[in-house]
Amino acid sequence: MKDKKNKKNGQNKNNIIIGLIIVALLLIASLLAAIYFVNQNKEEEDKIAYTAFLKDIEDGLIEDIEMTAGSTTLKVKYIDREKEDDVEKIIVPNIQAFMEFVHQKVDSGITVPLNTEQSGFIVAIRNNLLSIISTALMIVIVVMVFKMQGLGEKGKIYDGVENKSNVTFDDVAGLQEEKQEMIEIVDFLKEPDRFLKMGAKIPKGILLCGKPGTGKTLIARAIAGEANVPFISMSGSEFIEMFAGLGASRVRKLFEKAKKLAPCIIFIDEIDAIGSRRTNASGAESENNQTLNQLLVEMDGFETNDTIIVLAATNRPEMLDKALLRPGRFDRQITIAPPDLRGREEILKIYSKEKKFSKEIDLKSIAEDTAGFTGAELANILNEAAIIATVNKHEEITRDDIEDAVKKVTVGLQKTSRIISDKDKKLTAYHEAGHAIVGKYLETIQDVKEISIIPRGVAGGYTMYKTNEDKFYISKTELEEKLISLLGGRAAEKLALDDISTGASNDLEVATKTARDMIIVYGMSDKIGPISLQVDDIRELEFYGTEIEDEIGKEIRNLLDIAYSRAIQILNANRDKLDAVANTLIEKETITEEEFDRFF
Ligand code: ADP
Ligand code: ZN
Repeated sequence: MKDKKNKKNGQNKNNIIIGLIIVALLLIASLLAAIYFVNQNKEEEDKIAYTAFLKDIEDGLIEDIEMTAGSTTLKVKYIDREKEDDVEKIIVPNIQAFMEFVHQKVDSGITVPLNTEQSGFIVAIRNNLLSIISTALMIVIVVMVFKMQGLGEKGKIYDGVENKSNVTFDDVAGLQEEKQEMIEIVDFLKEPDRFLKMGAKIPKGILLCGKPGTGKTLIARAIAGEANVPFISMSGSEFIEMFAGLGASRVRKLFEKAKKLAPCIIFIDEIDAIGSRRTNASGAESENNQTLNQLLVEMDGFETNDTIIVLAATNRPEMLDKALLRPGRFDRQITIAPPDLRGREEILKIYSKEKKFSKEIDLKSIAEDTAGFTGAELANILNEAAIIATVNKHEEITRDDIEDAVKKVTVGLQKTSRIISDKDKKLTAYHEAGHAIVGKYLETIQDVKEISIIPRGVAGGYTMYKTNEDKFYISKTELEEKLISLLGGRAAEKLALDDISTGASNDLEVATKTARDMIIVYGMSDKIGPISLQVDDIRELEFYGTEIEDEIGKEIRNLLDIAYSRAIQILNANRDKLDAVANTLIEKETITEEEFDRFF
């Protein structure tokens, strides 16, 4: 029932747009008509003056007439009037007839000098300005209307159709279980009848969740490639950026197209752009609702035997409107995690195929150093390494080129050209030394790999830690130590310079978010207890009692305070090391793992 209403709403919206355009056209038309009639009347008035004027010529009352080429206005000087400003302006309805009349009266002694200074063309434009503008306006409106209607047909979106995707599962490294799960989808697209005869229901919609670059698009393409069916793709953000009502109509057209091409795959990237929770708002928000409603209608509208599978990707499944996740819509969720060690090695293998590496390079050891990296980042690293090797005129890609590429991809490009004042240098040195030293005394913090005060990307300096092999669970102790290590930078600034800087803002942001998650997501607060307090609306918290908000705030603050004093305490106890590391940084700018360990 509800969906029927939604469909109607969608069409209503389109009707409203068309209606608005018609009203606008009518308004312009009546405006033009009004202007036309006003002018008509004016000419009517002038015509009387004109006939009188012809009579004045015959009566010999006119001394001089001045006319401009192309113009229909005359400047007329009467004999009996002395002053300059007694010149009259008279509109001539028919220049030709007037000229003939003047020629007949040539012996009456009137001169009609033709003022050619102003070219006829310009005058013609000036005199017709109004109609030119209105014509242009009409053309613009007509073009706009056509463009809006035509968008669905020829817009870039539907060029997303690849009649044959040549990506296969072999191109997707790692993701063994995920591929296994997709095989049934491929079989269904290939031989739907077999499934239908058995009475099996294949999901219509599958939600792929995961960070950007983890290969969601790639796997969707591979399904189409394996099943040898068309792949229609579109990004959620494309649905919402245009005029009101267009999002919904695009969704409708997308599905129309799919029905024609079935069996096929529809891929909607960034579905959260249209699929986030509906609101009661108006404007851009309600436009979003319209688009989402249309998507729900379409998802319900096609049958399992339409052999269309809708795959959608998002990084924030929790943001999605619950209605999207109901049975018959996106009722299956697959999380695509960043690759594990073996996956990374496989991905590196794929992207190293056409590259020249030196013998010393072992893909496995690169894989070990890149825990948490996505497939896209790994592909990017190898490409960057090849570029760096070329720039450095190396014969082949070396270990150093790869290390540089890893840094470039993770922390950004080294900014050697930026001139740093000595004061900033000292501050950054203490800040980074603080992170590194605090981390050294914390059990669960990984060893330091490199510390640097050379700016990279947006960071003024960085402390790189060795990566930890893929972990699924993080303990409370680990999170507490993470807070201490994050606040180590700020603590060192305070201790060494007795001043604090804006350089720690990102650390503080991450620390605060971590502390917050510890309490409201992981239920790690002793006071509040094991409860998830993630709510859509802060008001929902009232359900747990009115003091809960205060309590959460206090607990976050408490966690951060404890972590900060612990950082101060560690640094105070190792003040000699803090100074030594900071001074070495000021001198050398970068400290390696071995150099750092020598201080201990
Ligand atoms: P997403 O859609 O999750 O943002 P993409 O599928 O667009 O990510 O991945 C971007 C690129 O990263 C791919 O085109 C591919 O080059 C590479 N990539 C990511 N994951 C993998 C993987 N598992 N195997 C091979 N290449 C991958
Ligand atoms: Zn920091």
